[in-house]
Amino acid sequence: MSSYKLIDGKKISQDIEKEIAEEVKLLKKDKMKVPHLAAILVGNDPASHIYVENKVKACHRVGFDSTLFKFSETMTEAKLLKEIERMNQDPDIDGFIVQLPLPDQISEERVIETITPEKDVDGFTNQNYGRIISPQPGLLPATPFGIMELLKRYKIKTTGKHAVVVGHSRTVGAPLGMLLSHEGNATVTQCHVHTHNLESFTKQADILCVAVGKPGLITGNMVKEGVVVIDVGTTRVKDPSKKSGFRLAGDVLFDEVAPKCSFITPVPGGVGPMTIASLLLNTLKACKQRNE
Ligand code: NAP
Repeated sequence: MSSYKLIDGKKISQDIEKEIAEEVKLLKKDKMKVPHLAAILVGNDPASHIYVENKVKACHRVGFDSTLFKFSETMTEAKLLKEIERMNQDPDIDGFIVQLPLPDQISEERVIETITPEKDVDGFTNQNYGRIISPQPGLLPATPFGIMELLKRYKIKTTGKHAVVVGHSRTVGAPLGMLLSHEGNATVTQCHVHTHNLESFTKQADILCVAVGKPGLITGNMVKEGVVVIDVGTTRVKDPSKKSGFRLAGDVLFDEVAPKCSFITPVPGGVGPMTIASLLLNTLKACKQRNE
């Protein structure tokens, strides 16, 4: 049994926010443009409202300008694409996000591909996705970017390590596997819903990243001693002991897995805060590049 270290995403994200706030102060001092992040929210999904409001609050903390555009659940795809085109052209907006999921009448793929890659601070467009493996990456997908930053700041070596990523979604699992392989020089195994005998792969992992959305998927007998575990899963589960009536659960059964780990992220307070920090870093980068 090893004594594990918690990877404190909340603390690292606060450190990053302080660093960004310092840069913003310098920009203001030099009378340069302050980064401006805009967010589009369509519909009434309560979780999406909380996510977007947290992003706006983060902008205020670091001194960015921010604008929130709210639209009704019945908005048409054509109208949304027009709004995106308008933001692509708006010289004051450096980066913007369209909060997912979108109502059924709107194609997420068409929406993402209408965002100009230079302002795509979520890092979701095909161009930014492809540029993960280019010598000059564009704006990196926010959650995988945040995970790489956590590994770096905790000085966790990835070169030559066996990284097993469970999940191959476009926004998290697939780009994370690419980053670990190309930037991290790890040997990567990508698992997903069709993987036979998941445990035979997770047991080999030096670094195990899980991005599925199934609480308790990874149990203690599925990992080896000394593993580094990054739990991306965030699922709301009922918990009558909480005032709100629910809590956020990761994909990893923490109490069983943590004692075998060298490092592990908690849920909440691990990967989650890093996604917002990455969004701010991408907005700063987009602003600097547009004003070079
Ligand atoms: P997603 O699009 O639903 O993808 C889930 C992935 O897991 C898919 O690749 C799926 O494979 C795979 N999968 C499903 N069941 C599996 C199983 N039993 N064994 C192995 N793989 C399985 O979800 P996502 O957007 O990647 O998000 C994953 C989790 O991370 C969710 O809980 C989400 O809330 C959370 N998340 C957190 C943050 C954060 O900032 N903390 C950011 C983004 C997402 P197939 O595609 O083949 O079905």
